[in-house]
Amino acid sequence: MMDYDVLILGGGIIGCAVAYELSKYNINIALIEKDYDIANDLSCSNTAVIYDGSETHDDIMCELEKTGRDLIEKHCQKFNIKYNKVGALRISSNQARYNMFDIMHKNARQRGIDGVHIIDHNEIYNIEPNLGINTNKALYSENIALISPYNLAVSYAEVAADNGVNFRLEEEVIDIKNISKGFKVTTNKNKFTCKFVINTISNEISIDNQNEVYSEIRNKKMKYILFNQEVQNNINGVVINDIDDDTFIINISTLSKGNLIGIKSNDYLSLEEELELSESILTGIKKELITNMFTETYSGNGMCIDDSNIKDGYIKVTGNHYAKITIAPAIAVDIEDKIKINMNITKKRDYIDKKREVYVFRNMSKEQRNKIINLDKRYGNIICSCNSISEGEIVDSIRRPLGARTVEGVKRRTGIGLGSCNGSYCNMKIIKILAREMNKSVLSIVDDSMDSKVLVGRIKEFNEI
Ligand SMILES: Cc1cc2nc3c(=O)[nH]c(=O)nc-3n(C[C@H](O)[C@H](O)[C@H](O)COP(=O)(O)OP(=O)(O)OC[C@H]3O[C@@H](n4cnc5c(N)ncnc54)[C@H](O)[C@@H]3O)c2cc1C
Repeated sequence: MMDYDVLILGGGIIGCAVAYELSKYNINIALIEKDYDIANDLSCSNTAVIYDGSETHDDIMCELEKTGRDLIEKHCQKFNIKYNKVGALRISSNQARYNMFDIMHKNARQRGIDGVHIIDHNEIYNIEPNLGINTNKALYSENIALISPYNLAVSYAEVAADNGVNFRLEEEVIDIKNISKGFKVTTNKNKFTCKFVINTISNEISIDNQNEVYSEIRNKKMKYILFNQEVQNNINGVVINDIDDDTFIINISTLSKGNLIGIKSNDYLSLEEELELSESILTGIKKELITNMFTETYSGNGMCIDDSNIKDGYIKVTGNHYAKITIAPAIAVDIEDKIKINMNITKKRDYIDKKREVYVFRNMSKEQRNKIINLDKRYGNIICSCNSISEGEIVDSIRRPLGARTVEGVKRRTGIGLGSCNGSYCNMKIIKILAREMNKSVLSIVDDSMDSKVLVGRIKEFNEI
């Protein structure tokens, strides 16, 4: 007798989407994630671009993006997540790139992607009146949307957990071995047997721990600069300044009303040079308006669903694509189809495809607010004055299925700490509520992972903590 029918390794957005799709069936499933929380490495930005397949050279990625986008739009509606269809404008300060726009436009038509147009000067400035450069030709896609990737990943995971998927957090997979009619998966805490393994951490770990070397890896560094909402000349949607084959700048108006600029270049650039390039899109930016800067790996390499060992019960997902969030639900549905063919599974009769309700105080009318405060007084206690987030929302984010266990987990689920104070006024309050709800000492509360304790000790004078 196996411990599980299916073990999903990794609780990133792909692992969560797979757990959601498979939770409809009468099978015993666990998901193993080494971190304190699911989707932990989505933490760098609170906004994801949902692509439409028109920007990629790769036909397979295009199909995955198209399917993924359609699914995400439906899922956002189902889970009550804001799907912000803002459109994307591709401009260039280098006129030699204009013929690329024609090629991309032709490709979009051939691939059956509607809503992608070549537009002229007037249309460009109707869409983005505050653009930093003067340009006469652009490629515009109406389809591009912005969403909160955590909200999506957490929704997949909550529905999967409510339908019986066992989420094993803080457990690291160290070995996967093929045994007769299945697999033995060893973690730092347990050993499990299962019939089927879906490995979404396979960039790091493979069967029998043989890490594979992927040739042709074209990973490049991408610098991100996050500006606060005080940047005056606002940009409405996504804008890309396509400079040459190796250089582009992308501006994303984030859901927290700031701007995220990404700069991809093979050359080393100083911050001044980066700001100057960014001004081609977003004018009025200054160093003082920067709230965060980070460098990430940008990868145009495709994602691969490797089912070469499917007869043994093993599927692995590899690749680190820039549109992995967009593609995640398409990968999950493909894996679901493969499992249906290779395992004798039936649908659950009592499956509930619904996320438990979330009350977002700042989006409620006065009547709704009064009603909820009457039910639970904690909704009347505002913890974050930048974004009007109440104690009730924080407590709910901790008590939900797969609730937050870390400061970062509370921030992602509620949006607290994303206002102009950057969390400086509410961090301590979050720590206090987490400690109270989890019945722990404030000293043991972590920011986002095991070695990220936020407090080192108590100072006598501040006894209220
Ligand atoms: C800066 C940036 C911006 C991006 N913007 C977009 C965007 O706008 N639109 C878009 O579509 N995509 C975007 N992406 C792509 C996408 O967000 C990333 O690829 C995503 O963060 C990775 O997704 P994942 O959560 O599936 O991670 P994965 O790496 O696929 O998840 C693997 C999970 O496995 C866990 N794990 C690893 N090893 C083990 C182990 N041994 N045992 C147990 N668990 C383990 C990890 O903790 C992790 O949670 C962006 C990526 C970056 C870096």
